Amino acid sequence: MKTEKGQALYRRAKALIPGGTQLLSKRPEMFLPEQWPSYYSKARGVEVTDVDGNTYVDMSMMAIGACVLGYADPDVDAAVKAAIDAGSASTLNAPEEVELAELLCELHPWAQMVRYARSGGEAMMMAVRIARAHTRKDKIAFSGYHGWCDWYLAANLGDETALDGQLMPGLDPAGVPPGLKGTALPFHYNRLDQLKAIVDATRGELGVIVMEPRRGEAPAPGFLEAVRGIATDIGAVLIFDEVTTGFRMTDGGIHKLLGVNPDIAVFAKSMANGYAMAALVGTSAVMDAAQSTFISSTNWTERVGLAAAIATIRKCRRERVAEHLIRIGELMFAGWKKAASAAGVAIHTEGLPCLTHLGFVHPDELALMTLFTQDMLERGYLAFSQFKPSFAHQPAHVDAYMKAVASSFAMIADAVKAGDYASRLKGPAARRGFYRLTS
Ligand code: PLP
Repeated sequence: MKTEKGQALYRRAKALIPGGTQLLSKRPEMFLPEQWPSYYSKARGVEVTDVDGNTYVDMSMMAIGACVLGYADPDVDAAVKAAIDAGSASTLNAPEEVELAELLCELHPWAQMVRYARSGGEAMMMAVRIARAHTRKDKIAFSGYHGWCDWYLAANLGDETALDGQLMPGLDPAGVPPGLKGTALPFHYNRLDQLKAIVDATRGELGVIVMEPRRGEAPAPGFLEAVRGIATDIGAVLIFDEVTTGFRMTDGGIHKLLGVNPDIAVFAKSMANGYAMAALVGTSAVMDAAQSTFISSTNWTERVGLAAAIATIRKCRRERVAEHLIRIGELMFAGWKKAASAAGVAIHTEGLPCLTHLGFVHPDELALMTLFTQDMLERGYLAFSQFKPSFAHQPAHVDAYMKAVASSFAMIADAVKAGDYASRLKGPAARRGFYRLTS
């Protein structure tokens, strides 16, 4: 597989763009350093064509979870083209703002008000600002990853390991004002004792609790209800971050399955099938506090994101997309396990069926995953430790992919046995987490 143009472009990017990409999770070093195709010329359905002209079936992250319907979904793109033809921006507001707000509130009947942004981290920043404005308290207890913003990275001021175990180890809070130290306090999912300790230690100053309602781990019985109870008791705003989970397990937030409502839920990624769009959905009692502070931006008014979101959400509902994603994800879990046991390679799988993970049980796990990615690329697949199903993935895609996986796992089992897996790599092993790119 020749990816020379992609490699050359990425070398130019690293000289021009700090970090090389705009999103950590799109750095080629995360997948297959010096070999990953890196740039695409076209993406449609489940297929991606790179800038060297190779076409792959994407059995990995589908635009880091954004393209829930598949690439270039015809219904969403038709709505976007209509919005462009009608004028994507003007001095007046787009009426779709109201239509989408009504749709989101209909899907989340506990909520009455909506605001928009254009990315997940930005929307989380807005949610935290509104929550702080509502409670007039600075301190935040949070669990999990919530984006790049100051309020979040402040957790690593003074204790640079605070965010370890919250999905993203090694984040450096350089550039975050030291004055924010002690404002963002992490707890682990299902650790009510840790949240209670934060409540006690902050003595009446905790105004916001931020978490994903669920990601990999299932909530322990009563955990979410207890978090909700604490938030209500101390008058804190409970924010559910549904940036990644939204529109994957239900026709809205995953919290709809869990029986606990937040004060604000935040959506991005899947809600607009890859177009830039994000939304906060909340109770009017809390959302109204947006009026007491200043939250305003020109590009939050453009029409394309709105049109894409309405078309995506309507299709997710109409086609029962979440059920499809769950079915495809379950086929993947079963297929990985079958292929691994046939090949005699030790793997682990976890996650929700709509957000699946695969790993090798081996001290040099990252080298084996790099070898898997390298081998699957040769077989025409973008493949990695994560698979995020889309509506465009059909059982036949899983079947064909599993045939390739069977051969790849057999090669890996052989490499492990021979102890030569490192020398089978044609470039360096992948790297994970946050690190500085020096070349
Ligand atoms: N919150 C969660 C739970 C996420 O998974 C992500 C991104 O992966 C974000 C926030 C940040 O969203 P974005 O990358 O759109 O800024």
